[in-house]
Amino acid sequence: MATATTIKYEPVIGLEVHVQLKTKTKAFCSCKVEFGAPANSHTCPVCLGLPGALPVLNKEVVTLAIKVGLALNCQIAHRIKFDRKNYFYPDLPKGYQITQYDGPICFDGILELPIHDASGAPRNCRVTRAHLEEDAGKSIHLEGSTLIDLNRAGTALVEIVSAPDLRSAEEAHAYLTTLKRNLSYLDVSELSMEKGSLRCDANISIKPEGAIKLGTRVEVKNMNSFKSVASAIRFEIERQTKVVSAGGTLHQETRLWDEDQLCTRAMRSKEEANDYRYFPEPDLSWFNIDRKWVEQIQSSLPELPEKRLLRFLDDYKLERGEAEFLVSERELAEFFEHAVKLYQKPRKVAAWVAGEFSHAMQERAIGVKGLKITPAALIGLMDLLDAGKLNNVTAKEVFAAMLDSGEDALAVARRLNKLIEQDSGAVDKAIIEVMLEFADKAVADYKAGKDVALGFLVGQVVRKLKGKANPKEIAPLLTKAIRG
Ligand SMILES: [Zn+2]
Repeated sequence: MATATTIKYEPVIGLEVHVQLKTKTKAFCSCKVEFGAPANSHTCPVCLGLPGALPVLNKEVVTLAIKVGLALNCQIAHRIKFDRKNYFYPDLPKGYQITQYDGPICFDGILELPIHDASGAPRNCRVTRAHLEEDAGKSIHLEGSTLIDLNRAGTALVEIVSAPDLRSAEEAHAYLTTLKRNLSYLDVSELSMEKGSLRCDANISIKPEGAIKLGTRVEVKNMNSFKSVASAIRFEIERQTKVVSAGGTLHQETRLWDEDQLCTRAMRSKEEANDYRYFPEPDLSWFNIDRKWVEQIQSSLPELPEKRLLRFLDDYKLERGEAEFLVSERELAEFFEHAVKLYQKPRKVAAWVAGEFSHAMQERAIGVKGLKITPAALIGLMDLLDAGKLNNVTAKEVFAAMLDSGEDALAVARRLNKLIEQDSGAVDKAIIEVMLEFADKAVADYKAGKDVALGFLVGQVVRKLKGKANPKEIAPLLTKAIRG
C-alpha cells in the first residue's frame, strides 16, 4: 500500500497573459493611449464611467486581436459580443469591466515550444482562448492615501489563457518566451513587463502522478519578469507538495510573489472574489468578423517565427539552436537575412550573429535595434577576417568598438591599429625573439614531440606583434624556423 511519502506529485500549470494593445486610442472611446502622460489627462465621460456615456468599439482593437489570434494559431470567431464583469475597485469607475465572458474573439490555438519530451518530440501547449477586454486605471499608494490615475482605464487588452498543459517552471518559461516571440513579429504591443504592457499570472496545482482529477488551484500574481514567473512556480510546486505530503489541505486562493523574499504570500481567498456576476454589455451590439477581413489581416502578417525557423533550417542548413536564436526576434532574423544576401555564407554569418552579437546584446541588455551596427558593417568585418587583415582575436576587438561607435570595420581597425600588414621583417624578428626566449622550455618541448607547445609559441609571436598577425600564417613560419 502506498503511504503519503511515496506518492509522487505532478505539477499542472496554466498561464494567463495580459497584453496591452498598441492602439492610438482606447477600446471604447477616443481618448489617446500614451504611457507616462500627466495623470488623468487622457480621460472622457466614457472611460470615467459617467452616467449616460456610451461606449463605441474601436475597430483597430479588433484588428490587433485577430493578429494576436493568428500568431497563436487560433480560430477566429465569426461574431463577437462583450460582457460586463462586475466588481468594485477604486480604479474601475464604472463598477464593471467590459470583457468577453463566454465568446472570446480567438480560441483553440496552439504553441510549439522549443523544448522536447523524452522521445524528442517538441512539447506543445494549447491556447484555450484570447479575449478582448478593457484595462482598469492605476492606484498609486502613497503614505496614508491613495491616488487614482485613469489614463489607463479603458485601454485595450487581450487576455491569453493557456490550457493547463505545462508541467514545470521551465515549460512555463518556454511558453512565455515563445508567446512573446510570436507577438513581437506583429508589432501589436510594446510587450514590456516593466511598463506593464505584458503581465502574467500563473495557476498552479499538483496532483498524484497519473491522476486525472486536478488538485486545488492557486493563482499567483505580481511577477515582473519571466524569470520571476519561473521562480514563483518552482516555489509553489515545492510549497504545495510539502503541504499535501504532510497530510495538509490546500485552499483555492490568490497569492502574491515576493521578489525580495523569493516566496509567495496569501493575498485573498478566491471564494469572496469568485462571483463577478457577468452579464452581456447592453450598450454594445454584436460585431461581425467577416472572413475576407480575416484573410486580409492574415496576408498582411510577416512570415511568423515557426515558419521562418523551418525555412532557416532548410535553406541555410543551420543548427537548430542557432536557428531558434535567430528567429527569436524579428529584427534579429531580418538582420541575419540581410547579411546573408551580402555574404552568402549563411553558417558563418549565423555563427557571428548567434555568438558575438548575442553576447553583446545580453551584456548591454538591448535588442538588435539598439546595437549600432548594420548588416553591411558586419560583412565588412568578415571580409577583413577572410582577407587575413584581422585575426579571430582582433576581429572581436574591432567588433566591440564598432558596436560603440557605429563606424565601419576598416575605419575601426585602422583607428585601433589592428590591421595586419605584410611586414615580413617584423614577423621574422618576433619569431627569433620568441625562439630565444623559450629555447629551454616550449621550443624544447615542441622538438621533443609535444605539439601543443606550438600553439603557445604562436601566441607569443602574435603578442609580440601586438595582435597584428594571423596565427594561421605564423604557425608554418615558426615550425620552419624551429626545425631549421
Ligand atoms: Zn475616454
